[in-house]
Parts: sequence; structure tokens; C-alpha cells
Amino acid sequence: MLKLQNVQAGYGNILAIKDVSLEINEGEIITLIGANGAGKSTTLMTICGVVPSRAGKISFLGEEIQDKEPDEIVRMGICQVPEGRHIFPLLTVRENLDMGAFLRSDHQEIKKDIDYVFDLFPILAERKNQDGGTLSGGEQQMLAMSRALMARPKLMLLDEPSMGLAPLVIKQVFEIIKKINKESGTTIFLVEQNANQALHIADRGYVMENGKITLAGRAEELLGNAEIQKAYLGI
Ligand code: ATP
Repeated sequence: MLKLQNVQAGYGNILAIKDVSLEINEGEIITLIGANGAGKSTTLMTICGVVPSRAGKISFLGEEIQDKEPDEIVRMGICQVPEGRHIFPLLTVRENLDMGAFLRSDHQEIKKDIDYVFDLFPILAERKNQDGGTLSGGEQQMLAMSRALMARPKLMLLDEPSMGLAPLVIKQVFEIIKKINKESGTTIFLVEQNANQALHIADRGYVMENGKITLAGRAEELLGNAEIQKAYLGI
């Protein structure tokens, strides 16, 4: 579904990702793990066209996208839930969801999707008329994921959804990611520092260090890998 071949990208003189190659198949949950500053967010932003790639190829559903504008990439079915959520704080929950559907005009289907996300996150239904900015961190994460779902993405990119959340809420967020993948078939690319939880819901994983992919494998293999256990799982 998505293929990166020797992709490079960066900021000014900094090359943040160097020769990154990875592949995501339809229906999978893939996680990209790595320490702070490894280049994970840059990888996501390069896929979305927000950070321009300097070399290599990115293809989505057989079409090259490395030179496309971000809005075109969204229209093709890739949607990102950015680090730090970035919901609209002064819009209500319902209005935030409407913003997620702004490229769509199929009103009946939009209504169905609103019902679907309210079903996934009943707390958002309870708070639908409340301003986004007044929600807790966990609720804002749920809203950011719901807003992305309103675009009916084929591929959802999640940047550190667990960041800053309490352990119980983190567990809930990961369960919902798995549920979204199972129920709607949405392919998920999950960037996480919380390697343990991410590998527990993922099919496969990639490890990134200093802008390079250093290890790849099935999630259960990575969970059992002594180096990963030492570096990322605190074992
Ligand atoms: P984190 O978990 O902290 O977000 P990350 O693995 O997502 O880390 P990136 O945010 O992609 O890593 O950062 C990769 C490298 O690029 C780092 O050296 C970082 O300092 C640098 N970098 C990131 N954003 C910018 C920017 N806007 N301008 C300059 N350098 C940047």
C-alpha cells in the first residue's frame, strides 16, 4: 500500500532521515519505534508532503506521491494525527469532527461516521457541544483520532498517541487503535516511544536510530529481541 525507497529529508543543513526504506501492506498495523530525535516524526511528515523529500521514492497505492502537495495526499486517503493532537480548541467537539470531513460532500455518510466515532468514544458524544480546548489530554487524543477518521482515510498515520497520557488512558487509546483497524480495515502506521504497547498491537515494526532504519521484523520477534528489550523495553 505504502512504500518508501531510500527516502531522505531534513531541515536546512540537518538530514533528519537518511535512506529510509519501509513497506506497509493494506490492513496492517505497523509501528515505527525509536528514541527522541531519531527521525520518526520527520518520516511521517515526509509521507504527508509537509516536509519535502530530498531523495528517494514514496509510493501509495501504486502512485508516486513524493512530489505531491499535502492536500492531494489527504485526498488520496492518507491522514495524519499529529503529535500534540492539534485539535481546534475554540471549536466544539462536533465542529472539530466536521472539520475532519471538510473534503467530503456525502452528507448521509458523514452522519453515519459521526455516529461511528461517537460509538467508539462515547465520552465525545457526551461532550459534543463542549469546546475542544476544555477536554482532558486523553479526550483530546480521542478527538484528534476521530477527526482523522472523519476523512475516511485508507491509511492513518499516528504520531505518539500515548504522549503525556495516564497509563489507563494509554491502554484505552491502544485498544481503540486496534479496534479501528479491525472494524474499519484502516491501515495504521503508528509512531511511538512507548515501544512495548505499540509492539503489542502491531503486526510488524521498524526501529529507527539517527535517521536510519536499523531493524525490522514481526512485532513478536522484536518483542523477543534482546537488543530491543534492553534499549526500548527496559528489560
Ligand atoms: P520525537 O519523538 O522527539 O518527536 P522523532 O524521532 O520524531 O523524535 P524528529 O522530530 O523527526 O524525531 O527529529 C529528527 C531530527 O530532526 C532531530 O535531530 C531534530 O532535532 C531535527 N528536527 C526536527 N524538526 C526540526 C525542525 N523543524 N527544524 C530543524 N530540525 C528539526
